[in-house]
Amino acid sequence: MPACRELVVECESLAPAPSTAAVSDFGRRFWTHRESHLTAHTFAVANQKGGVGKTTTAVNLAAALASLERRILLVDLDPQGNSTSGVGIDKADLQLSIYEVLVGGDPMIHVIRPTGTPGVDLAPSDVRLAGAEIELVPTIARETKLQSALRPVRELYDVVLVDCPPSLGLLTVNALTAADAVLIPMQCEYYALEGLTALLTTIDLVRRHLNPSLHVTGVLLTMVDPRTKLSDQVAAEVRRHFGDRVFETVIPRSVRLAEAPSYGQPVLAYAPDSQGSAAYLSLAREFLQRLDRASLGTASGTGELSGVAAGALPDGEGVDRA
Ligand code: ATP
Ligand code: MG
Repeated sequence: MPACRELVVECESLAPAPSTAAVSDFGRRFWTHRESHLTAHTFAVANQKGGVGKTTTAVNLAAALASLERRILLVDLDPQGNSTSGVGIDKADLQLSIYEVLVGGDPMIHVIRPTGTPGVDLAPSDVRLAGAEIELVPTIARETKLQSALRPVRELYDVVLVDCPPSLGLLTVNALTAADAVLIPMQCEYYALEGLTALLTTIDLVRRHLNPSLHVTGVLLTMVDPRTKLSDQVAAEVRRHFGDRVFETVIPRSVRLAEAPSYGQPVLAYAPDSQGSAAYLSLAREFLQRLDRASLGTASGTGELSGVAAGALPDGEGVDRA
């Protein structure tokens, strides 16, 4: 991590002049916070299963953390670009996206833009990113592109959230390599734990070969329907596997949460009094508590992949049990 002064020099040479109203808020915060010594904690929101609530969690946790006065960078690492549209950015208007950063080598600061949510900036994505999975294959240090790109901007934010695609390809590996920890949303349904072995194996491989400090910091139960017995049974099963790594907060199934993206807004803005809004605020508070405990080195939820989490894997499948 560069010293703060070096970082400022580096960023000054990279930062675009904040010339328009659209970037002025970002620019103001950029210049205001450039002296910050805080280093952002980077979280990959990952699960190769589709439709489990990764994007909903990334967008709404970002907004909830920002409402608690944290500076957030949301990185959309999914070619579907759902986080991008979910915070109101029109993908059709994008000149630059995370694709230019990963494949073209553009500085991250050139693609970051403010969103309609104060305190949340976005590194946007669009469908071109799908090509990155292939275009990156022959490049040097292909797994560490995102990590390197985030380095000069990490200190501008308290938390960086990376929304991963529903696959375990090179994009997700880049997110896991750049991250301090993984947040795994799990839909409260019968097959919730299916496919988890592949995810945990990938996390463990990244930890052993690319990012030794990577942790699973939390499993989040999403789309919980408290009226059904099935939700209770699945939640109990997930808690049995992951113990206190499962967030106490659960995200209920909520129509408002499903509607909010079509208005390009986090639920906190779209329906502030809804259950979904309350749930993501509660998650943000629990998340920050865990972060505090982790920086004091006492969070049991941030340990290595071992014990109960490793127990989810068949014997001998890529888990360092030491
Ligand atoms: P993908 O793997 O395709 O990226 P994802 O894991 O990011 O999907 P989301 O896009 O967040 O999943 O959610 C899938 C769908 O479920 C979306 O239509 C979303 O609006 C809806 N959804 C997510 N969470 C909830 C919830 N708690 N209540 C109701 N609907 C939800
Ligand atoms: Mg998604």
